[in-house]
Amino acid sequence: MTSCKAEGEQVSCDSGDAVAGNDVRGSMSRALYECQRRFTVLADHLFNWEVWFGPDGAIEFVSDACERVCGYTADNFYRNPDFFSAIMHESDLPIWRKLQGMMTGGARTGEAEFRLRTPDGRERWIQYIIRRVECADGAFYGHRAICRDITERKLMAMQLRHQAWHDPLTDLPNRTLCMDRIGRALERSRRKDEHCFALVFADLDRFKVINDSLGPAIGDQILRDTAIRMVREVRSMDTVSRIGGDEFAILLEDIESEAEAQGIIRRIMDAVEEPITIGSKIVRVTGSFGVVVGHGSCDTAEEILRNANIAMHHAREEGWGNMVIFNETMLERAMHLMHIEMDLYRAMDMEEFYLVYQPIVRIGSKDITGFEALVRWNHPDRGTVSPAEFIPVSEGTGQIMNIGKWVLLEACRTMAFWREQYVEFADLIVSVNLSARQLSQPGMVDQVADVLRETGLPAGCLRLEVTETMLMGNPEFANMALSRLKELGVKLCIDDFGTGYSSLSYLQAFPIDTLKVDQSFVGRMSREPGNFKIVQAVVALAHSLGLEVVAEGVEEEEQHIMLSELRCESGQGYLFSRPIRGDEVPNLVFQSQGRTVSCSMEGVA
Ligand code: C2E
Ligand code: MG
Ligand code: MG
Repeated sequence: MTSCKAEGEQVSCDSGDAVAGNDVRGSMSRALYECQRRFTVLADHLFNWEVWFGPDGAIEFVSDACERVCGYTADNFYRNPDFFSAIMHESDLPIWRKLQGMMTGGARTGEAEFRLRTPDGRERWIQYIIRRVECADGAFYGHRAICRDITERKLMAMQLRHQAWHDPLTDLPNRTLCMDRIGRALERSRRKDEHCFALVFADLDRFKVINDSLGPAIGDQILRDTAIRMVREVRSMDTVSRIGGDEFAILLEDIESEAEAQGIIRRIMDAVEEPITIGSKIVRVTGSFGVVVGHGSCDTAEEILRNANIAMHHAREEGWGNMVIFNETMLERAMHLMHIEMDLYRAMDMEEFYLVYQPIVRIGSKDITGFEALVRWNHPDRGTVSPAEFIPVSEGTGQIMNIGKWVLLEACRTMAFWREQYVEFADLIVSVNLSARQLSQPGMVDQVADVLRETGLPAGCLRLEVTETMLMGNPEFANMALSRLKELGVKLCIDDFGTGYSSLSYLQAFPIDTLKVDQSFVGRMSREPGNFKIVQAVVALAHSLGLEVVAEGVEEEEQHIMLSELRCESGQGYLFSRPIRGDEVPNLVFQSQGRTVSCSMEGVA
């Protein structure tokens, strides 16, 4: 009798004793028969697909479960000793060869995963575990292999991995996979000098507006369509990823020149701009494209993506549907703006802002009728920073809300103080600039009312300046806000008139009192007849609408004379006075009214 053991387990049945007599032989063969019957029952009903290999590697037994798992009957394996190789996925053949080698080498255990092809052409993932089988005396009896179907588990794992690396809406690679691919491209370009790549940062223009107005379902459809179009235009080696809401990154590999990259991007841009039909709607979207060619001075994938993003913002500034190639100056500018942004957070707490006041005078008499309050930033390292530099940044970040609120309060408080102190200020008006974000803020009117109440400044002494572009962004809302401000008694003025876009029909509907002709026209009116005509037309238009006109940027006496001939009511400019500090204002007003008194601003909160 033989004793067999599989690794970790030992099954033994005694044998070898000399047994005499037929009875004994009879009972032996019954026992053997019983033993074989049990083995057959056990083997035939094994749930797992088991394969037993002899010491020479030949297949000795294949359980019936084989058909359930791989679709082929056991016979195929008995008939063709290398049937495993015949149905193995080509890429997994080396794994199988290695396992075979391990078995021939008498390995104790082994494990691997591979794919087998079923008769109907599908793939099944198999987990294959081998154990060396030995007799009690240590004799090698071959290997026992268990072949487990792990297809479901494998598919689930692959799906999870796919989800971790892909965007669910478009099925494009997501930001994580995108960064990985950029990182690899960066490494390749470092290893091989001739390997050049380009990274494109694409952002759909006005996507928020489309999403808000047409609904998120249509927004999603546009993103899916855009993704398909982008993928269609790139080569198989390139990667299109969705890295944010309406942001895509396109990695173009093996680029020969900047021109080649531009050619591909133009194709993508054209494809994106093709009208998209969704139900009964036809939508046309454009994108802004920022491009980085090669890695330049970048060390990481993040830096490359950042630079492409910076270039995209430059493209957006040039209008919708533009492409801009990154250069280092753009990075310097972005860094500069970022520093301004960071410093602005501190500026309010550190009380680094202050106001200057520029007189507005009657053109005929040069009498001061009021002042425009203009904000300045006393930067600890850079000195005085112009609002033209930091106001746009603060609008982008929303910091303008706090700055604007402070300017309004400070200007009204100071004017109220002057009025209280000096009778000469009784009829003067202070003008305060509003930013687009301030005007669109729902609580704006209440804020103005609160400030007037708090400072005690009569509403008629405050003039708020807005630009036409701010009004035309959402004319209905702007009209409502202006009407409510007007009800408070505040005066309203359109600033920089002529530089933005406005509609004459709206102009007569808005409850405004004053038009400020932009200094670009006034400044050139004495030299260029065209500009003179523009100022003339604006003055005529304003008068026909019952509005007063203030000419900005009056620097020369000649301009002053011309404005006087045009019957322009007021002027503001270096000819009359530059913006001055608050403590200089009262003296200027006294001089204007024929009185000279020295005074100081002490006591102004
Ligand atoms: P703005 O409201 O049109 O203000 C007039 C600008 O023209 C001021 O520049 C003023 O100093 C300048 N200016 C006045 N007269 C002349 C002149 O004769 N020649 C020339 N070349 N320039 C003249 P500033 O103070 O640098 O302000 C620039 C812009 O920044 C302002 O234009 C306004 O849009 C904005 N700003 C200033 N203060 C504030 C503020 O408190 N809030 C908001 N939202 N914006 C402000
Ligand atoms: Mg202004
Ligand atoms: Mg202006």
